[in-house]
Amino acid sequence: MHIDLHAHSRVSDGTSTPTELMVEAAAAGLDVVALTDHDSTAGWDEAAEAVPGTRVALLRGAEISCTAGGISVHLLAYLHDPDHAGLTAELERSRISRDGRARAMVELLAEDYDLSWDDVVAQAGSGATLGRPHIADALVAAGVVPDRTAAFASILAPSSRYYVRYHAPDAVDAVRLVREAGGVPVFAHPRASARGRVVADTVVQQMADAGLAGLEVAHRDHTDDQREQLRRLAGDLGLFVTGSSDYHGVGKPNRLGEETTDREVLETIEEQGRLAVVRP
Ligand code: AMP
Ligand code: ZN
Ligand code: FE
Ligand code: FE
Repeated sequence: MHIDLHAHSRVSDGTSTPTELMVEAAAAGLDVVALTDHDSTAGWDEAAEAVPGTRVALLRGAEISCTAGGISVHLLAYLHDPDHAGLTAELERSRISRDGRARAMVELLAEDYDLSWDDVVAQAGSGATLGRPHIADALVAAGVVPDRTAAFASILAPSSRYYVRYHAPDAVDAVRLVREAGGVPVFAHPRASARGRVVADTVVQQMADAGLAGLEVAHRDHTDDQREQLRRLAGDLGLFVTGSSDYHGVGKPNRLGEETTDREVLETIEEQGRLAVVRP
């Protein structure tokens, strides 16, 4: 069984539609893929329709933007009720804040570069959760940088004068909310330090006390040492471990299935989650 539990579509900052993602998952030899767009479940239905044709099972999820004392935390939520009032309100708040943040960044960038808000909107799927990758794509289209990675390393980095923050819920609160919504919360790339500061073990402990189910250990942004430390931490806290690609289509080098999750862990997620995996 080849199981990849972290992938993005054009509903957030991936470059494939949910249907294309399912086709690509089949081509990559996956048996199960999770669609985990940032702060949105809007791609679930389209992806589910592609299950019979692709013969790839779909785990419905989302990657929730959170903060812990000013440090960015990404929380994967699996198989939760997409209509839970508390959770949908938080996700909507984050999407609105991301929208204002992207506009603020474009205003700053427009002082120095030939870039407009329409250029950024043109790069995103309609209703997509907006992020820096869309601004990066507009900068690529304008010939300012060669690709997304170059943009993230310079103009769009957190240390850049064009960087603007956005509102996101507290990570411990978000863990509780995901459980309330019947979902299974997993801490995404907890040690990915290339993206900025990472949280201390004490924060992971607090998240575990609030109902965290697992840690995403096998991820290309983690070194072997970090994976070893995370495996030990997961063992100490009684959490399961996952591995996934964090696929973003052509926007990032991550390939579907480059890291995978054990079948037993998928079974645990399905036992704990309110929804079922959509099977062919
Ligand atoms: P944001 O959520 O708007 O702050 O942007 C962060 C998103 O950009 C994350 O989902 C990352 O996966 C994505 N990202 C980060 N670094 C890169 C990169 N070098 N190339 C493409 N996408 C990236
Ligand atoms: Zn992303
Ligand atoms: Fe992430
Ligand atoms: Fe992601």
